[in-house]
Amino acid sequence: MSEALNPFKVAQAQFDEAAEMLGLEPAMREFLRWPRREYKFTIPVRMDDGSTQVFHGYRVQYNDARGPTKGGLRWHPEETFDTVRALAAWMTWKTAVVDIPLGGGKGGVTCDPKKLSDSEKERLARGWMRVAARELGEHRDVPAPDVYTTPQIMAWMMDEYETIVGRSHPAVITGKPLPLGGSEGRNDATARGGVYTVREACKALDIDPNGAYAIQGFGNAGQYAALLHEEVLGGGKLVAVSDTSGGIYNPDGMSPKEVVDYKLNNGKVSGFPGTKSISNEELLELDVAVLYPSALENVITGDNAERIQAKISCELANGPTTPEADEILFKNGVHVIPDFLANAGGVTVSYFEQVQGTYNYYWSLDEIHGKLDEHMTRAYREVRAMQKEMNVHPRLAAYLVSVARVAESVKLRGWV
Ligand code: NAD
Repeated sequence: MSEALNPFKVAQAQFDEAAEMLGLEPAMREFLRWPRREYKFTIPVRMDDGSTQVFHGYRVQYNDARGPTKGGLRWHPEETFDTVRALAAWMTWKTAVVDIPLGGGKGGVTCDPKKLSDSEKERLARGWMRVAARELGEHRDVPAPDVYTTPQIMAWMMDEYETIVGRSHPAVITGKPLPLGGSEGRNDATARGGVYTVREACKALDIDPNGAYAIQGFGNAGQYAALLHEEVLGGGKLVAVSDTSGGIYNPDGMSPKEVVDYKLNNGKVSGFPGTKSISNEELLELDVAVLYPSALENVITGDNAERIQAKISCELANGPTTPEADEILFKNGVHVIPDFLANAGGVTVSYFEQVQGTYNYYWSLDEIHGKLDEHMTRAYREVRAMQKEMNVHPRLAAYLVSVARVAESVKLRGWV
């Protein structure tokens, strides 16, 4: 992996810029540039054919000054220690920007889940938990699902943990199925949180909430954004959507529910009646009020940033905008709601799940929505205020808010 593409180097560079602007002292900078603890596991798994395969697993507890570390588990063939470190750093800034009393962590296993049977996945999940259990717990570190891990995998892991400690312990992991202590409202939490920030941005920037919106990527995040945009903003016109099959466009607007149903029935959006096809690149450059990049990283770059016409870009995907593009969008007045703020609704409801599990008492869907709205609205307004005060692009403003919060907690503890 080249230095430029190493995600942990990118995470450190982003931190360095914020640390410089905040004038953090050298010891604090050095402390916050690195994970506090990191674990590397070997996990032997009995495969269905009777052989044993040894998998490599990770857990990084980046910073726990503000509370127990929290973050997902990724099962991916290209999982590396540096990817996990970067994701754990970003979780630290994400939990801080929405001001929930947690730190940041991340973990994973290098594996190709598409090649594993369900019983092999169960043995891998239980094997990971057996070796990681002593480092976890609701007051220590709480994992959750991420790429290619599911509520079922969380259920197996919780069961293994409870077997090891010999008592009920639902708050050790979040993203569980509802009957095992999952939270109401977790499914659409990422998109819902993002849409709440868009509502606030429209108010702050005096943008008409009835304007057009377009969505790149139509999975969990993109589909719920399509459905919730109109519900939360009380208006709006969905004009374009894309997935790996390509994009569809109708300037007169489409019914979000019909497009979602079509995608669920056909596995793709292309071919949706009454639309013309457009490429993913064209979709990003449409003249819309709100663009939701909801697929992949590095889709808005120095090459196309000048052509982005959206008034607001709400980054439900992680890392869709490169640093060079950030500067161009800022110069051109495109208001970016940065990923670790825009998509923080997921971890916020995960935190609610952890709290509910600890109390063994569950909140209604309305309560979850109300509390999520409160956190996201406050976070957006605080980042916006920082942006205006420092005259920087919103991503840097979000870093300034979070890094200052984590540094303050470190200082109060007397660590540095
Ligand atoms: P998903 O797998 O459900 O959906 C991804 C979608 O992107 C699919 O529709 C796929 O067809 C589309 N896609 C893939 N490559 C594409 C391409 N080249 N062009 C256009 N579309 C393409 O994933 P998701 O859970 O919706 O996550 C999407 C993004 O949001 C990721 O960056 C993820 O890290 C981020 N995110 C998701 C959550 C969550 O709770 N789901 C939380 C935080 C961040």
